[in-house]
Amino acid sequence: MEIPKTAAEPMLWSGWGDPARAADLPEPIRGLLADLLGVRPPETTAVRLDEVRLPAPALPGQVLDELRGVVGPGHVRCDDEARIRRTRGRSTPDLLRLRAGDGSDAPDAVVLPGSHAEVLELLRICAAHRVAVVPFGGGTSVVGGLTPVREGFAGVVALDLARLNRLVAVDTESMVAELEPGLRAPQAEELLAARGLTLGHFPQSFEYATLGGFAAARSSGQASAGYGRFDDMVVGLTAATPRGTLELGRAPKSAAGPDLRQVVLGSEGAFGVITSLRLRVRPVPAARIYEGWRFPTFAEGAAALRRLAQDGPVPTVLRLSDETETMVGLAKPGEIGGAAAEGGCLVIAGYEGEAAEAAERRDRAAEALTGLGGTCLGPGPGDAWEHGRYSAPYLRDSLLAAGATVETLETAVFWSGLPRLYDAVRLALHGALGSPLVMCHISHVYATGASLYFTVVTAQSGDPLAQWAAAKRAANEAIVAAGGTISHHHGVGRDHREAYAAEIGELGVEVLRGIKERLDPAGVLNPGVLIP
Ligand SMILES: Cc1cc2nc3c(=O)[nH]c(=O)nc-3n(C[C@H](O)[C@H](O)[C@H](O)COP(=O)(O)OP(=O)(O)OC[C@H]3O[C@@H](n4cnc5c(N)ncnc54)[C@H](O)[C@@H]3O)c2cc1C
Repeated sequence: MEIPKTAAEPMLWSGWGDPARAADLPEPIRGLLADLLGVRPPETTAVRLDEVRLPAPALPGQVLDELRGVVGPGHVRCDDEARIRRTRGRSTPDLLRLRAGDGSDAPDAVVLPGSHAEVLELLRICAAHRVAVVPFGGGTSVVGGLTPVREGFAGVVALDLARLNRLVAVDTESMVAELEPGLRAPQAEELLAARGLTLGHFPQSFEYATLGGFAAARSSGQASAGYGRFDDMVVGLTAATPRGTLELGRAPKSAAGPDLRQVVLGSEGAFGVITSLRLRVRPVPAARIYEGWRFPTFAEGAAALRRLAQDGPVPTVLRLSDETETMVGLAKPGEIGGAAAEGGCLVIAGYEGEAAEAAERRDRAAEALTGLGGTCLGPGPGDAWEHGRYSAPYLRDSLLAAGATVETLETAVFWSGLPRLYDAVRLALHGALGSPLVMCHISHVYATGASLYFTVVTAQSGDPLAQWAAAKRAANEAIVAAGGTISHHHGVGRDHREAYAAEIGELGVEVLRGIKERLDPAGVLNPGVLIP
């Protein structure tokens, strides 16, 4: 029987993306890293796939037989490669562990269900045998969302949803499409584009992440100003739980009690497995206009973004890099750096829609931005950003290999608290890491506040995992103390549970635990993830 191609298959197993697109660092950048940050080549190089150390498979044969009985033998995989490819997610610590050959969090088996009914049956079997189940979408979690606790369980199964990959139905009158969760974003966009439709959800992980993962982790795409966050797009969903099916969202808006969709959105596989999504769709835009603006300082740029977010017109894409990020131009060093050669801070503003509407919105926004102290740089930086928008993760692999640690973290805060939070996180990272390069941009804007996204580059110490853990702890503390949320769009996973508990308080944690106990009494769904 032919093994199905899964979403995880083409990804570089120990890094990011399509191996054919891996790019070596140009020599001048190596020189800069060495001179500015003291980056030295690491003493050890990454292991080969066949050198990764895996735990001995733990699942009893009887359980494997039962799982095979549900999905068919070809859809239960226990080979090393299948297990390694579903080990953890794609945070920098995840990659550092894999590169060092640590496969200790690998699942014992990878199971690929083909329907909601099969997922229900698999959950029943796993609950009966106390087997931990990790719903697996694109595997791009950066918060430990795919790293379950093993202790106390008979084994761990990765439930790879890649076979649930259909566009089920489109209601063009209501502009709602029903899609399955295992669709990767490009596949979903391709299916919708054939009907002239789009979701408008373009996170940096677009190439590999799935719709189910977007819903389960409350993702937010780069065009969120225009299309909204992913959770805003979900008008209805179906989830399989060990206790049965949750069918939620039957009308565009409802006053029928609390909105239970919100219990599943952001639940990171701990309450159930999302098997179907009804999503608001939009027409594919006829026009896309992206351009760059320069503001003298981050504070002036942030004030301008706030004015647009509050008074309009609101661009579809709106982001502001701080001085350091503008200078480095991480995504496209040559072009963005060149455009911003005079210093200051780069804004990318994009407008999508009908040609006349997009152009008219652009003109009104341009007038506002000029009035707020901005200088238009034309389409050059906008186009460069658009073309490089998915490249940065490839650069991370090269930086890791060169001996640098590069990682990101994000939060959101009300406008009034933004300057304090911005300073506090940078201070915390500098305190923890000595002299790192800390870059930041405002990545998502709202009338009431914005999301700040930090990128950190530093020389790897002898123990880069411990080095980053200390820096991340310091940054988290700074975020919490400055009134930000522990995550605007990456989620909680294993990494943010403590801070999440602080954010929702003791009673909030009790409510979460109550929901978990009711939906998953055996506690097999993604144990250790999300629930403090
Ligand atoms: C380089 C890079 C760039 C990124 N950029 C962005 C960005 O711009 N915006 C953004 O929002 N995020 C970003 N992320 C984070 C990540 O891509 C998102 O969290 C995304 O939503 C995860 O989708 P996935 O399909 O890969 O899910 P996975 O990583 O496979 O899973 C994420 C969590 O959801 C659970 N899950 C997955 N599918 C289901 C399901 N069907 N039912 C129930 N639970 C499920 C998993 O168990 C896990 O806890 C980025 C990550 C990387 C590595």
